[in-house]
Amino acid sequence: MGKLQSDFRRELAARGVSRREFMGFCSAMAVAFGLPKGATAMIAEAIENNPKPTLVWLNYQDCAGNTESFLRASKPTAAEVILDLISIDYHEVIMAAAGHQAEANLRAVVENQKGKYIAVVEGSIPTGANGAYCTVGGRAAIDIAREVCGNAAATIAAGTCATFGGIPAASPNPTGALGVGDAVPGIKKLINLSACPMNAQNMTATLVYYLTYGDWPALDKLNRPLFAYGKSIHDACERRSHYNSGQFVEQWGDEAHREGQCLYKMGCKGPVTFQNCPNVGWNDNTSWPIACGHGCIGCAEPDFWDKMTPFYAHIPGFPGFGKGSNIDKVGFWATIGVTTAFAGHTLVHLGKKRMQSGKDTPADPNVNPKGGEA
Ligand code: SF4
Ligand code: SF4
Repeated sequence: MGKLQSDFRRELAARGVSRREFMGFCSAMAVAFGLPKGATAMIAEAIENNPKPTLVWLNYQDCAGNTESFLRASKPTAAEVILDLISIDYHEVIMAAAGHQAEANLRAVVENQKGKYIAVVEGSIPTGANGAYCTVGGRAAIDIAREVCGNAAATIAAGTCATFGGIPAASPNPTGALGVGDAVPGIKKLINLSACPMNAQNMTATLVYYLTYGDWPALDKLNRPLFAYGKSIHDACERRSHYNSGQFVEQWGDEAHREGQCLYKMGCKGPVTFQNCPNVGWNDNTSWPIACGHGCIGCAEPDFWDKMTPFYAHIPGFPGFGKGSNIDKVGFWATIGVTTAFAGHTLVHLGKKRMQSGKDTPADPNVNPKGGEA
């Protein structure tokens, strides 16, 4: 047994994670990547034997929610141990170093591990006022990001602010906030893990994929891993049979709501949002928003704060949706709607414009186009 492998096994044992739990974790990773069960042993071997990369984590215009998500675990898990073993040499929220020493640590990684380390960016990057809206150690965030991400093997944008600008970039975007890909064009490899916050499971799986294959997972056209963002919320939703059967919650707390029926009419944006929340859940897979009775607000999509609002108004313009429509067609048209939305999110955008101009005529007269805020 090599040193890395024995160190890793010792760490698992010290943290109370059994071999069975570790193999269970590797098996879950194989399933997440869509690999056959035989891949479990390969993933386990790679995690145990391959050197863990160095990672630096930059925080800009953000609420630290992605850091919270990354660190949050109710008990030591195999994932937690793996993340602990990755050498996080710079992270403003958790590092012990401060001031000049901290900045020297970051410089050392950029200079000594050029092209080898992984950069994670949390938060959007302001470009207005020559970068003066966000500075660290006297340097503009945009300048630091250009240098750190420009010299990294890969950059992971963690959360919707870092991927697409998020709330700081919402209209009128006073700081000129941009996601990493727009603020720092030409990055060698950009992986977007959108959502507000990013789901720690998806960060773990992305890093495990890299540890296993020495490469990054296949991405969609928004640079998001397909294993996590390849399907809409609607596709995997546990309430989908109610949608297909035309059984909808009409009011918060009504009988349909208590029975767990579809939240489409209450503003659910699951049909136009792509992420694996229904499968991996949140908080150690304790639950997820729709299971709790609240619709998806589309937090993993670009410009969600502008395009997915009002959150409690249903997506207008789903042809075939409404009273008297053939219920089979509801599901059929939803699929068409999802495809359309994925192609450019125009459905929601147009819908919002129509709602804002007051010209929208909802298919169902019982639906309030301005939304019934809970
Ligand atoms: S509209 Fe929302 S609640 Fe209804 S099935 Fe789709 S994702 Fe689930
Ligand atoms: S259900 Fe929708 S709003 Fe909630 S976390 Fe998932 S993508 Fe974001």
